[in-house]
Amino acid sequence: MNGCRDIIVVGAGQAGFQAAASLREAGFDGLLTIVGDEPVAPYQRPPLSKAYLAGKATAGTLALRPASFYANHRITLRLGERAALIDRPVQQLELTSGERLGYDHLILATGARNRSLPVPGADLAGVLQLRTLADAEDVQRYLAGVESVVVVGAGFIGLEFASVAAARGIAVTVVEFADRVMSRAVSRPTSAFFRDAHEAAGIRFAFGVGVGRITGADGHVTAVETTNGRVVAADLVLVGIGVVPNVELAAEAGLAVADGILVDHALLTSDPSISAIGDCATFPNSFDGNAPTRIESVQNAVDHARCVATRLAGRAASYAALPWFWSDQGGWKLQIAGLANPHDLTVTRGDPAQGAFSVFCYRHDRLVGVESVNRPADHMIARRLIAERLPLVPDQAADLALDLRALIRTAAA
Ligand code: FAD
Ligand code: NDP
Repeated sequence: MNGCRDIIVVGAGQAGFQAAASLREAGFDGLLTIVGDEPVAPYQRPPLSKAYLAGKATAGTLALRPASFYANHRITLRLGERAALIDRPVQQLELTSGERLGYDHLILATGARNRSLPVPGADLAGVLQLRTLADAEDVQRYLAGVESVVVVGAGFIGLEFASVAAARGIAVTVVEFADRVMSRAVSRPTSAFFRDAHEAAGIRFAFGVGVGRITGADGHVTAVETTNGRVVAADLVLVGIGVVPNVELAAEAGLAVADGILVDHALLTSDPSISAIGDCATFPNSFDGNAPTRIESVQNAVDHARCVATRLAGRAASYAALPWFWSDQGGWKLQIAGLANPHDLTVTRGDPAQGAFSVFCYRHDRLVGVESVNRPADHMIARRLIAERLPLVPDQAADLALDLRALIRTAAA
């Protein structure tokens, strides 16, 4: 097993958990430790803004594995402990307690944290964010008694939260810098569909504005003033304005860092004894001419982790998995294959008015991403089309009479 007897994973999130689980699956028999600063065993984040807030999942059901899994697989969980520094010359990780742990290989899976809103009043009670289980518990507690909320940011978190809140009968206003929803992730037709769907559910939007300040009474939020002077009453403000990767540990250890911790195709950092995976890692994206790319998704965390485990098991591994994403908003299931942005042409297959369609996004005549709404079969086909770089011209994409599955079979034969 590549001479490694002692592997430490920093970060007990999706990527850190998967790295440890995949290492054991791959036959790694040495010491395996996960150091995580949250006080709970690794859990799924996606339901936090979906089923958990909707009251359809409890904290207990979110765990990625039961406690017995870690004992049975000899994975030591050091929870509620934070890695403070990496002493690379002696290959030791120092925890904030001062304790030092030696490693043969270190896997950084430190994830990302929410960007904070730098405006007056952002520290008032009732101004909340959503990243961890503790955050979600806070939001859940507050939601029970509120009548109106302002959501800052029309990204995935903002919209998923907004649709859960609206379904509970709460008045929701979403404030967004950009001129459309999910502008970072999806094409204009898909944005337009979701805007309409959310507005039909009673959610109001203010585009092209930010938050000027948040006002309150007795230390608790009462309203949001937008940058164009509009005042919106709110007894809860949910801030979902993107994340910042946790790169400080790596940067202070002298590893190469840009927007994320820089890794190569094998997900190795500039130190061959240290890998980085998941939300914190910037890797060469083989679907975009090896452009340095950082992706925030479960697929990316899981596939990065598997790739590193394969390499540490002594087999060749080069990361080349196709990115894909999903989001549940109201009754709509959005699935995205590939990285749709930027693109210069979109073709719609199906009818948005019927609530089931896919948008095929092309860049320089190449299919780069497909966004499917309530058309799961299109999504699975799109993953193959893009991953295997199979040809599909725009006219074919739009032609509902064309059986895409048959086309794939022919092209792949
Ligand atoms: P994280 O999950 O952030 O885990 C990193 C862990 O490392 C954290 O626990 C952090 O506290 C810890 N850590 C950081 N520094 C240290 C240190 N120095 N010492 C010890 N521990 C440290 N993705 C999807 O694909 N689909 C979805 O529907 C979806 N929904 C989401 C909903 C919500 C509410 C959120 C917040 C995210 C969602 N995501 C979704 C994104 C997805 O959850 C993340 O991309 C994924 O969790 C990233 O995993 P990770 O392990 O890289 O990072
Ligand atoms: P996103 O980056 O997706 O969206 C944030 C949005 O907020 C952007 O449109 C951004 O605009 C806007 N924004 C930024 N600053 C302001 C401001 N001051 N006022 C108003 N709008 C602002 O991040 P999220 O917070 O939605 O999600 C955080 C993380 O959670 C991400 O990693 C995301 O991938 C993950 N997540 C994923 C889900 C999924 O895949 N289904 C679901 C939920 C979360 P601009 O781009 O112009 O800065």
